Amino acid sequence: AAPVAFMGGMSRAARAGIIVKSSGTLEQLARARTAAFDKTGTLTYGQPRVTQIHAEGMDTDRLLRLAAAVEQYSSHPLADAVVDRARQDGHPVPAADDVEEVPAHGVRGTVDGQVVVVGSARYVARETGATPPRPAGVTGVHVAVDGHYAGYLALADELRAETRATMASLRRAGIRTTIMLTGDGEHVARHIADQAGIDDVRADLLPQDKVEAIRTARPRPVMMVGDGVNDAPVLAAADVGIAMGARGASAASESADVVITVDDLARAAQAVHIGRRTMRVAW
Ligand code: ADP
Ligand code: MG
Repeated sequence: AAPVAFMGGMSRAARAGIIVKSSGTLEQLARARTAAFDKTGTLTYGQPRVTQIHAEGMDTDRLLRLAAAVEQYSSHPLADAVVDRARQDGHPVPAADDVEEVPAHGVRGTVDGQVVVVGSARYVARETGATPPRPAGVTGVHVAVDGHYAGYLALADELRAETRATMASLRRAGIRTTIMLTGDGEHVARHIADQAGIDDVRADLLPQDKVEAIRTARPRPVMMVGDGVNDAPVLAAADVGIAMGARGASAASESADVVITVDDLARAAQAVHIGRRTMRVAW
């Protein structure tokens, strides 16, 4: 292949805010047949908002304050939304002690002498032995206090404006299958996938399940697009890992083959188009 063509492709990509780390990546992009995506922050804006609060055995203000008290130490998008809502409602957010974040599950800590556990239905179920109710079509952030189920905050996140067109553009560039990988529940995942025009949904996944899903995905090569927080191992497992790096998710950026430096999912499809064009010129 002509090195000049590769350099042209890489600089064309760079001008579009797409950092391609090696020329071999352009070839893999050109040949990619499956495209997988993280949901939160990648297909959606990743700026969820609290839309409803359901408390059991206490009032909703207290539930919100306790949840915000531990969530203020987490950088997860759901955590930010909970803290924002507490501040908006004018609640002072108390400090928490012994805070521990469990990636892909949630966070726990001690607030006013009570143990508060906040996170996925699975995580809170394990803490309480209760089966938390699942709000329909939205993400539930569940709360347990001293081992008792205390309710949930319902959060909704919006599909990116460019997501649907990006899936269509990827198909025109030779992608045969699109897959969503998410730690969120099946119902929310399906709802977002339908809006996005995504073929296949894998929900309730832990980080290691996402890696396994990438390893077994067919047809290959497989490209994976993620926005960061827990996505580094998944990006590394893909034939082409693409990090949406606008928010400076450095761990993900380091294990990625491509870093997109603007907050625009359409650049993932553009990267494939540039790869294809480069290969046509190079041979
Ligand atoms: P996604 O695959 O959607 O990016 P993650 O793998 O980051 O999601 O997290 C999986 C699930 O774990 C989330 O949907 C949420 O239920 C729960 N979770 C993780 N961290 C937190 C947190 N700090 N606060 C509340 N819930 C959390
Ligand atoms: Mg994520």
